[in-house]
Amino acid sequence: MAEIRLEQVGKSFGQEHVVQHLNITIPDGSFSVLVGPSGCGKSTTLRMIAGLEKQTSGDIWIGDRCVNQVEPGKRNVAMVFQNYALYPMMTVKENIEFGLINRKVPRAERERLIRDITEIVGLADYLGKKPHALSGGQRQRVALARAMVKSPDVFLMDEPLSNLDAKLRNQMRTELIQLHKRLGATFVYVTHDQVEAMSMGDQIIIMDKGRVQQADRPMQIYNEPANRFTAQFIGTPP
Ligand code: ADP
Ligand code: MG
Repeated sequence: MAEIRLEQVGKSFGQEHVVQHLNITIPDGSFSVLVGPSGCGKSTTLRMIAGLEKQTSGDIWIGDRCVNQVEPGKRNVAMVFQNYALYPMMTVKENIEFGLINRKVPRAERERLIRDITEIVGLADYLGKKPHALSGGQRQRVALARAMVKSPDVFLMDEPLSNLDAKLRNQMRTELIQLHKRLGATFVYVTHDQVEAMSMGDQIIIMDKGRVQQADRPMQIYNEPANRFTAQFIGTPP
């Protein structure tokens, strides 16, 4: 069970309140999208859930655990970034295997996991290649595979497709939705693109200026935008 709850969460950098009064519930097993204009606090929010950034106020719950004092490695979440963050000198296999070796997963189990997961993400033929020899989409798949081998309850993705061209981005959107169905994990997906948000998410959380403007199912937001900002942002006809 990995519902995520933010209760009155705020984050300040010095005098600047980056996010304030965040009350967010991300249902277990949902594909939830955090969307809003650049600078509205999406990445900060995701990083707080991951534990990479400590909130200034409020509580964060993952499942039935308050994780305020839990370090990132113990939150059972995996994060996928837009810049892939692959090790350039390592092969695809080594990139994926690295975290498993660190966690002392036995060799036979590592081999099995890597075989199964690279099959799922379509990388089985690329295990010996280095990142520079891969396309953007393939690199993003390596980053996904690296997250998947941890079998986390929660996948946190920060604009994972924004470096890809439009055609590949479309294809990867479909693949991510299928992957979500297959894994049954909770996905939290950050994007500034409202079309992407509305087409991918089963739950949408719209942010602006560090606050949640509306959180609901896409059709509900489309039919009943809570305020002028959400109406304009998602383009509901007046
Ligand atoms: P988004 O992901 O929605 O574009 P961010 O969460 O990255 O927004 O940033 C929100 C605001 O917080 C921005 O104004 C940004 O400049 C500020 N910010 C983010 N990280 C830091 C930091 N480490 N130090 C100071 N300000 C930051
Ligand atoms: Mg961001």
